[in-house]
Amino acid sequence: MSMKNAVRDVFGGFWSLLVGLRITLGQFFKPIITVQYPRQTVKIPARFRGHIKLILDPESGLSRCTACNLCARACPSDCIVVEGAKKEGQKTKWVTDYHLDFTTCSLCGLCIEACPFDAIEFSKEYNTVARSRDDFNNMDLVARLAQEREVWAQNRPSQPPTPPASAPVTAVVAAAPAASAAPAAQPQPLEQKLTP
Ligand code: SF4
Ligand code: SF4
Repeated sequence: MSMKNAVRDVFGGFWSLLVGLRITLGQFFKPIITVQYPRQTVKIPARFRGHIKLILDPESGLSRCTACNLCARACPSDCIVVEGAKKEGQKTKWVTDYHLDFTTCSLCGLCIEACPFDAIEFSKEYNTVARSRDDFNNMDLVARLAQEREVWAQNRPSQPPTPPASAPVTAVVAAAPAASAAPAAQPQPLEQKLTP
């Protein structure tokens, strides 16, 4: 190798080093767009579609679902099963069981559009994982709502107010003392699951 080529290689390598450092320094001063997952997570966009869920009413901590079954009828994949019950003396039915087969759900949103009470929505759960698909073919949305209510109750500054006598069955039973709760029966109704 001639001296001329050797000098050209040295300067070429040095120039290459400077170009790399310029790119590195440029990135160093840019805002960070990655997060330390799972300790940090990004903000989930409002239009994100996780599995459907029952909405927890922020005032009462209960579901607004009346088990009218319109969502199940609107579902093209036939993956919703809703059961409801009526408390004696009341005209309205309230949800006791709401199961979703998430393995066949196409996240089309027709069930949400069909609901006249705004009782369901897409959840923001982006990391729904399990060891078996069997965990997703019969998701108990009432039980999930009960878990959500526990968090809601802990973060609430005071106990929920006693609902009036005309309140839905879920609210009345949830406010009643444990001793007056109905005996355990299958399937477990929402009002028992939501009772602290
Ligand atoms: S999003 Fe579509 S497929 Fe999924 S449960 Fe609702 S209606 Fe059925
Ligand atoms: S979620 Fe809405 S449409 Fe479905 S059963 Fe409940 S109230 Fe009716």
